[in-house]
Amino acid sequence: MLTTMPRGTKDILPSEVGAWRYVEGVLRDLCRCFGFKEIRTPVFEHTELFQRGIGDTTDVVEKEMYTFIDRGKRSITLRPENTASAVRAFIEHKMYAEPDPAKLFYIGPMFRYDRPQAGRQRQFHQFGVELLGAAGPNADAEIILLAVQILRKLGLKDLQLKINTVGCPECRPAYRQRLQDYYRPHLEELCEDCRSRFDRNPMRILDCKNEKCHALAAGAPKLAECLDDDCKEHFAKVQELLKASGVDFVIDPTLVRGLDYYTRTAFEIQYTPLGAQSAVLGGGRYDGLVEEVGGPATPGIGFAMGMERVILALESQNLLPAADDAIDVFAVAPKAEAAALAFTTVEKLREAGICAAYDYQQRSMKAQMKAANRLNAKYVLIFGEDELTRNCVTLRDMQAADKDNNQREIPLAEITTILKTEVQNNE
Ligand SMILES: [Zn+2]
Ligand SMILES: [Zn+2]
Repeated sequence: MLTTMPRGTKDILPSEVGAWRYVEGVLRDLCRCFGFKEIRTPVFEHTELFQRGIGDTTDVVEKEMYTFIDRGKRSITLRPENTASAVRAFIEHKMYAEPDPAKLFYIGPMFRYDRPQAGRQRQFHQFGVELLGAAGPNADAEIILLAVQILRKLGLKDLQLKINTVGCPECRPAYRQRLQDYYRPHLEELCEDCRSRFDRNPMRILDCKNEKCHALAAGAPKLAECLDDDCKEHFAKVQELLKASGVDFVIDPTLVRGLDYYTRTAFEIQYTPLGAQSAVLGGGRYDGLVEEVGGPATPGIGFAMGMERVILALESQNLLPAADDAIDVFAVAPKAEAAALAFTTVEKLREAGICAAYDYQQRSMKAQMKAANRLNAKYVLIFGEDELTRNCVTLRDMQAADKDNNQREIPLAEITTILKTEVQNNE
């Protein structure tokens, strides 16, 4: 073998694709109900989009991007997430000029140079939505409800919705100040990353996974104490709407998103059986992002969901539907003379929308019947010598309960019509 899959990538084999298509189907159906339209942005973008749109100080941009110089000497990056690209497209195609908010969703591969582990790959897949142009708490609640409905529809239980508010550029500076005052005497105890965050981005110390940092975060001042009235009211309304919709949640003050363009609502849904760092989905409001990327000030909110993690969770709970890969008809031609007729019949059946197959190798009748069984054929057409002299073939119903009475002769000219009826009645 010349080479294998690059580290952190994975083939999704035909036997696994069914699970993906099933989940994607649920996502597309619900997005349609909620009025979100699909967008497909390029897999690579100019590097500066992510530097600005994700933030220079984030781990993603500092350590995890697939960045390279292309043959035209441009710095190109494989997208590590899709929000920045969606916002770029929103600005580039002047969607902000539309009278109604833009409601976009995407499904596709993302790339991060991360240490590969279970459920985390270098090429991974995300589904996500972005709602651009709606500032009210109803938009926040709607986005959260879409996330909840998706996971419910997939059948996942043991979900925990965590929400928080990160304030806004009006009330955050006071909080940063209080955080720095709190952490200053403990600087020596913080991990190296957090010491560098202290000046640049003290809010990110709160969600550090390092044991000591985590312990210190418990006693840190809460943003709730610094919120201005608008932010307080917004958060209260979001909670009110969630309660009115019968959705349980907990408020988690450590749920922070440290960058300046993040505002107000942040949320995460954890699937507890997957373990401590079990967020399958996370998102929040980013009212400063469109401006950051060079567009007119536009409020925005969205979330992203890890496809691999969700499929892993569904698998572990036996929530994936059984694969339906049975074919409708297998054409058996015991004698070489009938093979051409079997071949053209199969083509005609396919043209009529019937899933049909035949034997490529003109093996024995027995071998052909076995092949039909391996493909779970619902019917077999036997192009036998005798029948053909009467311009007929034998139609055998492979699912018939009555094994002695499961076949009949049908005229060649009526094969398609009869099978269409049979297949339809079967569904
Ligand atoms: Zn505020
Ligand atoms: Zn830390």
